[in-house]
Amino acid sequence: MSTETSNMGNSEDNKPSNFIKEIINKDIDNNKNNGRVITRFPPEPNGYLHIGHAKSICLNFGLASEYNGKCNLRFDDTNPTKEEQEYVDSIIEDIRWLGFHWGEKELYASDYFDELFEYAVKLIKKGKAYIDSSDGDQIKEMRGMPTKPGIESPYRNRAVEENLDLFMRMKNGEFKDGEHVLRAKIDMSSPNMNMRDPIMYRIKHATHHRTGDKWCIYPMYDWAHGQSDSIEGITHSICTLEFENHRPLYDWFVKELEIHHPQQIEFARLNMSYTIMSKRKLLQLVEDKHVDGWDDPRMPTISGLRRRGYTPEAIRNFAEMVGVAKRDNVIDYSLLEYSVRDHLNKQAQRVMSVLRPIKVILTNYPEGQIEEMEAVNNPEDETMGTRMLPFSRELFIDMDDFKEDPPKKYYRLSPGSEVRLRYAYIIKCDEVIKDPATGEIIALHCSYDPETKSGVGTSTKKVKATIHWVSAQHAIEAEVRLYDRLFNSSDPAGDKEVDFLSHINKDSLEILKNCKIEPFLKNAKIGERFQFERLGYFAVDNKNTTTDNLVFNRTATLKDAWTKIENAKNK
Ligand code: ATP
Ligand code: MG
Repeated sequence: MSTETSNMGNSEDNKPSNFIKEIINKDIDNNKNNGRVITRFPPEPNGYLHIGHAKSICLNFGLASEYNGKCNLRFDDTNPTKEEQEYVDSIIEDIRWLGFHWGEKELYASDYFDELFEYAVKLIKKGKAYIDSSDGDQIKEMRGMPTKPGIESPYRNRAVEENLDLFMRMKNGEFKDGEHVLRAKIDMSSPNMNMRDPIMYRIKHATHHRTGDKWCIYPMYDWAHGQSDSIEGITHSICTLEFENHRPLYDWFVKELEIHHPQQIEFARLNMSYTIMSKRKLLQLVEDKHVDGWDDPRMPTISGLRRRGYTPEAIRNFAEMVGVAKRDNVIDYSLLEYSVRDHLNKQAQRVMSVLRPIKVILTNYPEGQIEEMEAVNNPEDETMGTRMLPFSRELFIDMDDFKEDPPKKYYRLSPGSEVRLRYAYIIKCDEVIKDPATGEIIALHCSYDPETKSGVGTSTKKVKATIHWVSAQHAIEAEVRLYDRLFNSSDPAGDKEVDFLSHINKDSLEILKNCKIEPFLKNAKIGERFQFERLGYFAVDNKNTTTDNLVFNRTATLKDAWTKIENAKNK
């Protein structure tokens, strides 16, 4: 999607503009960076990507693509103790799945450890960085408060030679963790706390997932990030708002080093109702087994959404709909659900599936007879054609479509009433068969009207309801997992006094075994998505499906039940 070419120019797509594009357009007009656009997506490999990251991915890769530039995938792997290869692999898989490509290979901040070290030496030589031998608490204490200036460290005016010597020895592993740090020499009374001699390097005797034991000093985020951007020739370094007051530091470093100066631009991070986006909290859900891994279909992670049945297009459209804002806001969760419904409605194969089966015996239908009924694969897309559905004397319908004591205006099946079986006949319920011991309904005896066959019958009979069904002898069995929102509070992490775990929706997963599905799905593939008519969108689970257990995850219901509930509450 984002191949590097020399033919730069304005966006040719008709995508809506935003303030970042306005900045880029101006830069191109002024021939800044020779009119090139190079962005990056810089995840820290300490967790799986979530829908907020997806927003940032779509923005960065999307801009690169629109302006014929490129977007680098750069792992911000500067903290050896929290980062793992598993996360690197999942991040690569998720971004590819979303449909984006980067250059030949992914990049790592750790690729630049040597250069960053040389840059630090340069600043020390300029008298712009020094070794502080105070301990962590003292450094914190001396930093002061936003309203109160900090205090200069007693080590601040060390000679350049001494600083260089100590820095080399830090690198060579002569000191223990925490004995010294390298700090930038900026301004201890700056109203911006980030400018009060920020730490650039700390000692950490830890094995890094890529550089192994080569280093025992590791760069801090602010030091590594901007310089990595510069080394890669990034033109527009897009980040979220909380970095706004890191920008003066970002600019200070590249200016003092006299290296390529990328422009940092901040936008509002994506916040969504009914969910959390903190990687630390998501990790807690996984580790404490509140969910079935990072890819649990209830998780807001990209892998969770994929397993749930979301399409990359739905997520990209969602990111586009959300837009790019300068101020924080909260996006309603139902917008994400809308986007997947909208895409699957256009795309998904329709099938019939009975989740809570109740047997129907058509007492007047010839034993052993099988008819093939023609069914439309997707009313939204004629090219998807039709398929044949076997029909026979014994069928299953959904328990939800029958009521022994129907309320007024109940049009589905009840004793004595008639309904149409989709693509088949009108049937009438004659008798309810119960288990004499338990009183439980075990079957419905019904009769069909042979004149009412869909499309061919001569009868003009009309009924008010059409229900779905499957032929009992042809049905395949499946397990179906119904998901609801993971939290029952719209802002589960909003109240610091209340543990977000207390807002977990206990009914967010319902597992139905022995569901009956039409035989068309016999060869359904992992990840394949369908609309179960009248019930919603479902995808074949990629984790629990085996050769003898077909498992479906409900991606979304056909309608937005939550908004309805909330509207009712507000009335
Ligand atoms: P943390 O830094 O606390 O571990 P993070 O979510 O910022 O969490 P990163 O791996 O640093 O994780 O994020 C990679 C990129 O994704 C960053 O550029 C960040 O700005 C962006 N990003 C993260 N969360 C969101 C969000 N909710 N909306 C938009 N962009 C986000
Ligand atoms: Mg971050």
